[in-house]
Amino acid sequence: MDSFDKGLLRICLVSVLVNGLPVGGCHKRGAFWSRVLERVQGKLSMWREKLVRLQRNFLWGWGSDGRKIAWASWKKVRKDKVGEVYPVYSKLWRCKALPSALLTAWRVLENKIATRVNLKRRGVVVENSLCGLCGKVEESSNHLFSICDFTWRVWCLCFEWLDMSFVIHKDPLVNFLQFRMCSASDVVNDVWRAIWVGVVSEIWRHRNSVTFDRGVVDALEVCTLVQVNVWSWIYAKSRCTSFTYYNWVMNPVDCMMLVV
Ligand SMILES: [Zn+2]
Repeated sequence: MDSFDKGLLRICLVSVLVNGLPVGGCHKRGAFWSRVLERVQGKLSMWREKLVRLQRNFLWGWGSDGRKIAWASWKKVRKDKVGEVYPVYSKLWRCKALPSALLTAWRVLENKIATRVNLKRRGVVVENSLCGLCGKVEESSNHLFSICDFTWRVWCLCFEWLDMSFVIHKDPLVNFLQFRMCSASDVVNDVWRAIWVGVVSEIWRHRNSVTFDRGVVDALEVCTLVQVNVWSWIYAKSRCTSFTYYNWVMNPVDCMMLVV
């Protein structure tokens, strides 16, 4: 094989894979996602230890001995307000999701996420305050995670996948509290709410990609990444996961019932 043929072969190999996925492959087949899953699992194993160390040593501190800088007491972060009729955080931190995604969800629920409206409110000069995803309305937390046209498409795709109907409340906090499966066990609801965490954290990641890395808005990509992320979280955080990624995509609710 001469150098021209080798070059041509290399171009062909590059052209059939985009982001590690074979172009024209069937996304309903488990083998189609194997490369992505390998990469996700590799990253999870690498980051898990780092994130736990970050939480313990820096972000949440160790408490009263004064040895560590604590941005927020872990006990306070976990605790629901006294007399809270509908406890939120005790439900949030039980979700089968990675700490980084849970932290993003917590910031959304507390309205501490750095949307353009929140940045302006804190005196940061921003070029414009329009939503980074639709460009039509001011980028408040309520808009970005509940009302935005793009976000609405993501939620619709996710509920289509789950084969369920749901009303999205404009307030993310109410939305989270309403996001539960009636008559299901606590463990099943921990997985169910992990989907909420997955959607919110992936919308925020997508918004940052579009805003800072010239990414293209793509609701289907967000929904697909939610499927991949939540499946990998369950895989990492459950004692027994007896279903494949293919099963998860085709029958998510049946799979949730199998989580221990
Ligand atoms: Zn928008």
